[in-house]
Amino acid sequence: MEDMTIDEKLAVDKFHVDEGHEHICVDADASPSEIERLVKLCPAGLYRLDGTGRLTFDYAGCLECGTCLVVGLGGVVRSWSYPRGGMGVEFRQG
Ligand code: SF4
Repeated sequence: MEDMTIDEKLAVDKFHVDEGHEHICVDADASPSEIERLVKLCPAGLYRLDGTGRLTFDYAGCLECGTCLVVGLGGVVRSWSYPRGGMGVEFRQG
């Protein structure tokens, strides 16, 4: 497990994506410095900048760690909640 890359470790987890409920909503027009902070902090790498420097975000791979809730609510993060019951991440191997 120690020699695995982040992408390999994330690939072990299973995601039950709730297509009808975007549990985290973001503001792509938030301040660039706040966006850059979440690009660096999200452990799943879901906050990304495209080729034009614009924020892209996909809640489907969320680890539900709460980092962006603590750091970004009221700025980049417009709303945050857990996925509905039975949905979201299923951790494997601890
Ligand atoms: S809760 Fe954690 S994993 Fe999910 S989007 Fe926010 S920082 Fe990323």
